[in-house]
Amino acid sequence: MHAMVLDAMGKPLRAADIRTPRPGVTQVLIRVRACGVCRTDLHVVDGELPDPKLPLIPGHQIVGTVVETGESIDRFASGDRVGVPWLGSTCGTCRYCKSGRENLCDYALFTGYQVDGGYAEYTVADHRFCFPIPDGYPDLQAAPLLCAGLIGYRSLVLAGDAERLGLYGFGAAAHIVTQVARYQGRKVFAFTTPGDAEAQHFALEMGALWAGDSRQTPPEELDAAIIFAPVGALVPAALRAVAKGGVVVCGGIHMSDIPSIPYKLLWGERTVRSVANLTRQDGEEFLALAPEVPVRTKIVPFPLEKANEALDSLREGKISGAAVIVADEVQ
Ligand SMILES: [Zn+2]
Ligand SMILES: [Zn+2]
Repeated sequence: MHAMVLDAMGKPLRAADIRTPRPGVTQVLIRVRACGVCRTDLHVVDGELPDPKLPLIPGHQIVGTVVETGESIDRFASGDRVGVPWLGSTCGTCRYCKSGRENLCDYALFTGYQVDGGYAEYTVADHRFCFPIPDGYPDLQAAPLLCAGLIGYRSLVLAGDAERLGLYGFGAAAHIVTQVARYQGRKVFAFTTPGDAEAQHFALEMGALWAGDSRQTPPEELDAAIIFAPVGALVPAALRAVAKGGVVVCGGIHMSDIPSIPYKLLWGERTVRSVANLTRQDGEEFLALAPEVPVRTKIVPFPLEKANEALDSLREGKISGAAVIVADEVQ
């Protein structure tokens, strides 16, 4: 199943072709400048996540300019630069929302999945879930901060104060997390698909102390590992690499099945956990931290008409850094 809407020429339909978006009471109308491409977009387009809105415009790392706001909105004004992340809205009243865990809200709506996203010229978003984009980040470089950066940051926080950190899968999220982890004084060990010398080189360039194949044993025991690749077999591999008391954090929304493991891999108070979505607090913290590091994103731009090509390149592991879809006039 393909959730992306294509026209007769195989190009993605633009928002204006489907409907004219209007801002609502809590919504702002945004001219999209850039939209990051995330592995989750692939999972959505490939039908690996249940019940997407259809037809759907994917994309949840949107950087744009506010064109028009709902009448009562004073947080943003026309011309402001905003970022729209994966968390599109929450109910605000459930147990999760009321306990600082809005990322787990049962009634949350996600951008580019349950509401239309940013592979478009215009989009509407609930301003309460948008972020101001830090000055100093051009539109294209800012886009990957909004999911690769945010989810990467949340994964890093859940990895605790690990000094020796392993990253499995070295794409958009890992290249950002490496910079933050180095800034925090941690050692980074990068694991890639066996034989992917280019990704290993990229990891070293970003500040990893060591880079190797996911089947290899790192030169030091790890205190924590974050798995960004959607490969369940990496969970036992990471458990083998972490020291007693270590945590393995699964950072993706979808993963192939995890093979059965002997209990001794988990023994020694090792933990396996997932990271789900983001909270607005994660966004505020990370977008304040990013310019301090300063996080620099390596991006591979694609025009909107080539959105499917961007997705294919990501699927084939051809992107070094983060793919970003760029509005015509920004290029
Ligand atoms: Zn809720
Ligand atoms: Zn994402």
